[in-house]
Amino acid sequence: MKKVIFIILSLILMSCTKSSDHNHSSSVDISSDSPHQTVAEYGTKSDENGTFKVSFTISQNISAFQLITRCNSEEIGVDNVVSPTGEVIFSASNYYSDYQTDGKQFQKNINTFNFPVSTTSSNLQEGTYTVTYKLRSGKGSKDASSALIVKSDSNKSSGVLTLNVIFAGSVASSTEIIKAIKKALDTYSIPTLNKAGIAVNVNYHLFPDIPSVLPDPTEGSSVYESVSSSLPTGINLFMGADVKNMKNDKGHSGLSASVPGPVLPTSKSAIAFSLNKAVGDDGEFNGRGNSNVDNDEKDEDEGDEIRLFSDSISHEIFHYLGLRNSVEFQGNVVTWGDGLNSEKCVDKNRCEQVKNARENVMYPYPIRHIATGDDYNYYWFVRNIVSSDQRMVANKWVGVN
Ligand SMILES: [Zn+2]
Repeated sequence: MKKVIFIILSLILMSCTKSSDHNHSSSVDISSDSPHQTVAEYGTKSDENGTFKVSFTISQNISAFQLITRCNSEEIGVDNVVSPTGEVIFSASNYYSDYQTDGKQFQKNINTFNFPVSTTSSNLQEGTYTVTYKLRSGKGSKDASSALIVKSDSNKSSGVLTLNVIFAGSVASSTEIIKAIKKALDTYSIPTLNKAGIAVNVNYHLFPDIPSVLPDPTEGSSVYESVSSSLPTGINLFMGADVKNMKNDKGHSGLSASVPGPVLPTSKSAIAFSLNKAVGDDGEFNGRGNSNVDNDEKDEDEGDEIRLFSDSISHEIFHYLGLRNSVEFQGNVVTWGDGLNSEKCVDKNRCEQVKNARENVMYPYPIRHIATGDDYNYYWFVRNIVSSDQRMVANKWVGVN
């Protein structure tokens, strides 16, 4: 049996005084027999260094929790998590421990923290957990509120996910683009999610009145808050003509709000996609233009753009589910790996030669290669391999039930 229990905890951080050097908090029992939505409120006081704590008690059969913490105009990060036995099971100061999450970074306005973070995180146990947050400003007296969402999930390696696909602004009136996006999802992106044991319900929504040029989801926007609030709980894929602050790399057409993303509607409950980036210069998926070189009919966009876009969609969804890029480079040098059993390599050149590395769903960019058929001048290697560790991490996100 699988279910999600929503607990909203409101934290009111009262004025910080020099004399109050202890934190007050009360706990809320979350049992698996709770109704789907339970609301509880409690207050606490931040200390003079701008830290505050969220404490909650969970029952034995809870397998994961997510805390969505708001603190307007402030940058907040999770500093540590203490287990019911008093053990520090997560610490922001340990670079190598659970770097999968943006929750330990300072995030403006809204911080999303999903636990367990990675395959090496402790499993949850019955009892009271305390999560300590830090404000980057280092000053107290700030109001904050936390929403806690938990799931009890008997099957930790598979589940069901809802995707809301939102056609924004001018995209809502483009039937060809909508057809291509549906094909990208049905033919490629969803089968890649299925490899992680995740079955998908997709809902399509037309929002012609929201901006075609989407806001930067990492900064958050009232557009994302109001649209996500009107839709079923799930991951919201906003399809716009363009996205503010998007990097200009071929094959990089989406941007997730954070790693992982919030499961409840917020101003950051979005993955934003740029169709301009996805279709290339000719303005259409798989358009065919005239080559200046030999007047042959050529695809100026070099390959199957529907397929290329589909890999960008699944890559960003896995970011939202809590996966980082499998490797990161600085120049030719691999500077970071995800700590999971996704295929690794020693440098960029070799990564591009190793099929299992370059075709991992979380490889940072698609690799172009010369085609052998006559359809296109170039193809792109697919990115659709999901390792067993990546599957375990993706299934820890509380919205996969
Ligand atoms: Zn990425």
